[in-house]
Amino acid sequence: MPDEMSLRCEMIAICRKMTSLGINQGTSGNLSVRHGDRFLITPSSLPYESMQPEQIVSMSFDGSYEGRRPSSEWRMHRDILHIRTDISAVLHCHSVHATALACQYQEITSFHYMTAVAGGKNIRCAPYATFGTQALSDLALAALEDRKACLLGQHGQIALGADMASALWLAVEVETLARIYLKSLALGEPPVLPDDEMERVIEQMRRMSYGQAPNDAPDDLANGCP
Ligand code: 13P
Ligand code: ZN
Repeated sequence: MPDEMSLRCEMIAICRKMTSLGINQGTSGNLSVRHGDRFLITPSSLPYESMQPEQIVSMSFDGSYEGRRPSSEWRMHRDILHIRTDISAVLHCHSVHATALACQYQEITSFHYMTAVAGGKNIRCAPYATFGTQALSDLALAALEDRKACLLGQHGQIALGADMASALWLAVEVETLARIYLKSLALGEPPVLPDDEMERVIEQMRRMSYGQAPNDAPDDLANGCP
């Protein structure tokens, strides 16, 4: 199990990357990662630029914590981490293009094969519920069934990953797909790839561990970074 301090530092680095990649701004968005029988989550309403490792909140799955107030979306993070034992990191953000689609309750269809990176033939959009509520958590969980990403109606997106870097990668992919989809929609509703083709794409991605760096990369590729 990675030590808690290195996870806290990685969380801050990933949050700052969200900002530098342009998928989030200000204090919106939040990030959590599983740690043993607890989870770590970003504190509420704190700018990522000034966030310190000790300000990250360690929570129990019963919702108890000590210290700073956790993200208002802790229920959503807790419930996803509890039920989705296939993933260990949850990232939520208000990236512009994904949120623009979510404001129209427009799911991302199989207009492009990359929609399959979220695990299925579409990326669903959950109905609206007030931020920070159990209702929003329940709706998000349903939209994430058999998927690693979804849109949240009139709110933003959620991306899941085996680790924080994978969740960030997927959030960027969802945002990119949303951007292409919006451009394509401007020319008219694009056609969708048929279900059997999307099944082939999903299987191909599974076989290739698509989007994941090969875990047998030779050591001599190491660039000396810590
Ligand atoms: P927090 O600052 O409480 O994490 O809220 C941000 C957000 O995106 C709510 O949905
Ligand atoms: Zn939000």
